[in-house]
Amino acid sequence: MSLGLSSMSSYTSGKRSPKQPWHLNKSEAPRVTKEITVLGAGIAGCTTAVALARRGLQVRVIDRHQTAGCEGSGNSQAIVYPKLSSRDDVLPRVNLASMKFASRYYKPFWQQGFGDQCGVLVLPENNKVLNDFKTIGQRFDNEPALVGLHKNAELCALSGIKLQAELGLYFPELGWLPPAEICRELLAHWQIPLISADIHNISNTDNYWQLIDANGDLCLTSESLVVANAFDCLNFEQTDFLPMTQLRGQVTDLPANQKTRALKTVICGEGYITPQNNGLHSCGATYNKGVFTTELRDSDHQANLGQMAATDPGLGAAIGPQNLANLSGRANYRCTTKDYLPIVGPVPNVSQLLEDYAPLRRDARSDISSLGSYVPNLYINCGMGSRGLSYAPLTAEILAGEIAGEFDREQPLLDSDLRLAMHPARFLIRDLKKNRI
Ligand SMILES: Cc1cc2nc3c(=O)[nH]c(=O)nc-3n(C[C@H](O)[C@H](O)[C@H](O)COP(=O)(O)OP(=O)(O)OC[C@H]3O[C@@H](n4cnc5c(N)ncnc54)[C@H](O)[C@@H]3O)c2cc1C
Repeated sequence: MSLGLSSMSSYTSGKRSPKQPWHLNKSEAPRVTKEITVLGAGIAGCTTAVALARRGLQVRVIDRHQTAGCEGSGNSQAIVYPKLSSRDDVLPRVNLASMKFASRYYKPFWQQGFGDQCGVLVLPENNKVLNDFKTIGQRFDNEPALVGLHKNAELCALSGIKLQAELGLYFPELGWLPPAEICRELLAHWQIPLISADIHNISNTDNYWQLIDANGDLCLTSESLVVANAFDCLNFEQTDFLPMTQLRGQVTDLPANQKTRALKTVICGEGYITPQNNGLHSCGATYNKGVFTTELRDSDHQANLGQMAATDPGLGAAIGPQNLANLSGRANYRCTTKDYLPIVGPVPNVSQLLEDYAPLRRDARSDISSLGSYVPNLYINCGMGSRGLSYAPLTAEILAGEIAGEFDREQPLLDSDLRLAMHPARFLIRDLKKNRI
């Protein structure tokens, strides 16, 4: 099984553009691999592990917790969140592809009773967004299973809540999921072992990755390694160049009342709220840059409640006044990237890539004959931001396909420009072109 990227010729655009094959791997045809370790048992790591196991690789997952889904992927209810745009930019195109893929991926889970494919209703946050919604509604008019633009009476009927919004977008095939349960089910179903260890550094000796803990003890060796441990990959020298941020967020568990019990869909706008599960709605979420605590804060509960009223006054009225002292919830961290896209693919050999592509500093349109340099058998799948549930199934599939050498699929999962927009080397190339590195 090939681990190389040397046959990624499908990524080469046919347009007249400078020759810059940084995404192709210059190293010799790689060794055959059969076994691979995934570091991190969140939704990114677990979906990656399964995508690799499906291809016949022998996979292990390693995490500092005893079970999967204990950190970012540990909320009780998370939404497969739709984010479309009236513009045809890279980010909304990736979001559309991810959302469609995720909806198919999670269907069997919903059918087995994990979460609910209850539909997601998105309400406009302002007039500009309202106008975008109208364009989106027209654009996807022929895809009613994906999204529909609805007027107030329909929004009220769909949601079960007396909303005031004039218009909204409804995505019937999305919904909410319990991410930790999905992570555990993925590993259990595919009988993928989870090894518990807190890894402090990784190094390559004799073509094997060594995973070492804080005491300097060797926990595991592996032919190939996928780093899927969110922002903690910044602690490894191989991946510390990646522009990621650890961003705290808090969700509030809101006790259901007579009116909110009628909620039938997820509602998103300024914030989001899920239909009740065991008598609680999950509502959120806050974004607290530079805050590093998982203790719950009343100010965040307050912010979440405020977001509900801002999403729709009718929703705020249904929720009614709350005593903050009675509210529970959960706080954890997202791993966000500068361009809001995940980071998936082979890990660049930074110094070599910068040397080979140095001419870009003088001229961003230089023709360069050298292929890219990548660390042998080291891959990453991180940077899921606020949409890990939507992104992870697709990024996992892309990565596993590339690791397994499937470069000549009849139907690529993504257009080549979108694939490259998530590539780990993109930041280096951009920075070189802007002479920032
Ligand atoms: C408040 C809040 C609300 C959110 N709501 C939604 C939502 O509704 N929908 C949605 O799609 N997304 C939501 N998100 C974002 C979503 O949770 C993340 O995108 C997703 O969980 C990221 O998954 P991950 O696997 O990349 O990271 P994680 O789930 O954080 O997994 C990383 C794993 O790596 C392990 N690890 C890290 N370092 C090491 C190490 N050195 N050694 C061993 N193990 C290690 C950790 O223990 C962890 O299990 C929300 C996030 C927050 C904080």
